[in-house]
Amino acid sequence: MELILLGPPGAGKGTQSKFLETRYGVAQISTGDMLRAEVKAGTPIGLEAKGIMDAGGLVSDDLIIRMIGERISRPDCAKGFILDGFPRTVPQAEALDRLLHETAVDLDAVIELKVDEAVLVERISGRFTCAKCGAGYHDTFRKPKKEGVCDTCGGTEFTRRPDDKAETVHARLDAYNVQTAPILPYYQAQGRLYSVDGMAEMDEVQAQIEAVLRKIGVTAA
Ligand code: AMP
Repeated sequence: MELILLGPPGAGKGTQSKFLETRYGVAQISTGDMLRAEVKAGTPIGLEAKGIMDAGGLVSDDLIIRMIGERISRPDCAKGFILDGFPRTVPQAEALDRLLHETAVDLDAVIELKVDEAVLVERISGRFTCAKCGAGYHDTFRKPKKEGVCDTCGGTEFTRRPDDKAETVHARLDAYNVQTAPILPYYQAQGRLYSVDGMAEMDEVQAQIEAVLRKIGVTAA
């Protein structure tokens, strides 16, 4: 299965793609996670990307396309992948088409998670993550069962993304509206675009995504 999850920051791409990774046995690829790992490791890529990420902008297409080209050629992608946060511009979508064409891989679908902008700001500004296992939480919508303790691994350290601050969230939403939204008609024209209601409960969104996958003949491993 080769799938793209599209949608603005806070739409639930990360949550849904992690679920699909487990259910379908394919690799989840988040360019945001890859960049954050580079920043943490202090690599040249990380140094180049950090300022742009902190300001809520998009890092250069060239850098991202090189990173993705290398990533999807790794063995764990042989059974397929879910792209989360890539492509984010039309040139990135075009470059992905070329990469897939070279490897004779066909993109199954692009699933858009639709969410109202006012809800996004609220969702993003309250989210935090377990520092040990990466499980995601929210101050209002998804608190750990026991305050300060991760439900999944029992970890007690949590982190918040620096770019989840309210001021940066608006810049990120602008980047989505101006640079990423034009990808929707690009994939619509290819007949690959499906939309689901990202405002629904997490389980319901999952069910809607799976309904799309069944419709196009993709079944769980
Ligand atoms: P995300 O975790 O997907 O919200 O990404 C966090 C940040 O990483 C974004 O706000 C961008 O600065 C950068 N980023 C992630 N993916 C891309 C991409 N495909 N193209 C350009 N910048 C990206």
